[in-house]
Amino acid sequence: MMSVNISLLVDFLIQKASVILQPPVNGDFCLLLKLFNSWLGDKILPDIKVSLDELHHMIVEINSLSPRSVLLDEEGPSALSSVKTFKISWIFDVRLHALRDRLDGKAIKENNFKLKHKSRQKDPLKQLSKMLSDKNTTKKIDEQVGGLSMEVCTKFLQEPTAMVKLAREKARLTTPFKPIFKVCQNDKHSKVLANVCFSKKDIVNAVTRNIHMPGTSLHKILFQYRSLMSPEIYACSQEKTHNLPIKFSNSETSPGDCSYLDTCHKMRSCRYLHYYTLTPTKQPEKPPLNNKVDLSEYTIGQCYTSEFREVSAPQWISCDVRYLKFPLLGKFAAIISDPAWDIHMSLPYGTCKDLELMSLPVDKLQDEGIIILWVTGRSIDVGRKALHKWGYRMSNEMIWIKLNQLKRTIVTGRTGHWLNHSKEHLLVGVKGNPPWLNRLIDVDTIVSGTRETSRKPDEVYDMVERIVGKHSRKLEIFGRDHNVRPGWLTIGNQLTGVSLQEPMLLEAYDDLLERK
Ligand code: SAH
Repeated sequence: MMSVNISLLVDFLIQKASVILQPPVNGDFCLLLKLFNSWLGDKILPDIKVSLDELHHMIVEINSLSPRSVLLDEEGPSALSSVKTFKISWIFDVRLHALRDRLDGKAIKENNFKLKHKSRQKDPLKQLSKMLSDKNTTKKIDEQVGGLSMEVCTKFLQEPTAMVKLAREKARLTTPFKPIFKVCQNDKHSKVLANVCFSKKDIVNAVTRNIHMPGTSLHKILFQYRSLMSPEIYACSQEKTHNLPIKFSNSETSPGDCSYLDTCHKMRSCRYLHYYTLTPTKQPEKPPLNNKVDLSEYTIGQCYTSEFREVSAPQWISCDVRYLKFPLLGKFAAIISDPAWDIHMSLPYGTCKDLELMSLPVDKLQDEGIIILWVTGRSIDVGRKALHKWGYRMSNEMIWIKLNQLKRTIVTGRTGHWLNHSKEHLLVGVKGNPPWLNRLIDVDTIVSGTRETSRKPDEVYDMVERIVGKHSRKLEIFGRDHNVRPGWLTIGNQLTGVSLQEPMLLEAYDDLLERK
C-alpha cells in the first residue's frame, strides 16, 4: 500500500516547516497527516493516502538517514491509531536540505574534498591527513598523531566550528548600528568655531554648567554667523566632530589641556584648558539595514524568531541588596555585578564591606551561566574569592581601557596609588557547563569613553546579550537608573522605585511585601 517515496515527505517538510510548527497545527501528528495527504493529492498522487503509522515510519527513516532532522515528542495513543502518536517539536531544514541533496545524488557531485570513489575504502584518518596536508603548503611533519601531523591537527582544531561561525554571522547581522562621527584633525577649525560660538559670556556659562548639553543651540549660532568663517569650516562643522577650546577669564594663554577634561570637578577655577565637544548635525552614513535580513537559521541562546518570545521590558527594584531575598528573583542566564567595594575613596554613594559582599547569596541566582564582576585594585583578589565561594570558576579577565573626552587614553585618572589607572577590570566566572553560550564572538577588551563617576560602558551589555541571547533572563546587581534595559532586572539602592513585568516576579515581590 505504501508507495510514497520518502523524498516526497522531505520536500513536504521543507516546504511546510513553518505551517507545521506554528498554530493551529503546532506539530500535531494527525493534522500533519491530513496536510500531507492533501499535499500529495494536490501534487501528483491523488489516489495514494498514507496512514499515521506509515508517516511515523517515514519520519523515523528520515532521522536514521539524517539524524535529528525532525524532532519528535512522544504522546499517548490517539483516536486514529492504537499506537502512541507523536508531535513534531522542531524541523531542521538545513539537515533536510542536505538529505534532499543526498537523495538526489548531489553529494558525490558536490563533494568539497573531491575524494575519488575508490579511495573511500581507505582508512578515514589517512584520508583526513591527506586532505589537510594537501591544503597545507608547509608539509613539515613534527610528530604523528594517528597518521596526521601535529601541525595539521593543531591547525584543524583551531579552526572555528560551524556553530561559532554561525553565531558570529548572526551577531554581525543583528548588532544595531551605532553612529561614529569622524573627528576633525584641523585645530584651526576648532579655534574658529570656538571664537564664533563662545563670543558671549552667557554661552560659555551655559556650556560649562552643562558640558554634555546637546549642540543644537551652538549649531544655531554657527548658522547665524556662518559669514564669519570660511564655507569650508562651516561645512566641516556639519560633518565632523570638533573639540572647541573653552576660554575662561582665568585660563592662561597656552596652559595645556586639563588632565581631567570634561570630568574636571573645578572647571570654572581650573587654569588648564577644557573643551566642548560639538557633534555634527549630519548623521554618518548607515550601512544597509540589517534588521530586515531574513535570519532563517537558529543560533544557540537566541530564539528562532522574536515572535516566539518577546524580550521583557526593563525591570528594576530599588533595595538594599544585603536584605533582598535572592531566591525570590528566580534564575538568570547572566549576571553583571558592579559592587560598591569599599576602596577607601570618596564616592557619591555608600559602600559595602568585603564580608557583606561575599555573604550575598549570589549562589542562589544561577544553576548554570555566566557572571561578570567589576573589580578594582585590592578587590580583584576579594572578587576572585567571592566567585569561587559562589560556585563559579574564573574563565576570563576582561579590561575596559578608558578614553577621555578627546578619545585619547587616560593618563591621569582619579584612582591609583603607584601608577595612574587608565583601565578597569572585569572577572568573568562560569557556573556549570552551559552548552547554550555563544562563544568566541567578542574580544576581552573594551575601549570606550568614561562618563559619570563609576558609570560603566554599555558595550558590556551588548557583549553579554550576544553570549546568552537577548531573550534570556539577565540580572544586574548594584545598577542605577541609567542601567535599566530590556531583558534585564536591575537591583540597587539608587534606583527609583520598583517596576516589574514578569508575573512570577510580581507574585514573589507581593509575597515579600505581605510577609514584611
Ligand atoms: N555600574 C553602575 C555603577 C554602580 S556604583 C553604573 O554603571 O552606573 C555602585 C552602586 O551600588 C551605587 O549606586 C550604590 O549606591 C549602590 N549600593 C551601595 N551599597 C548598596 C547596597 N547595600 N544595596 C544596594 N545598592 C548599593
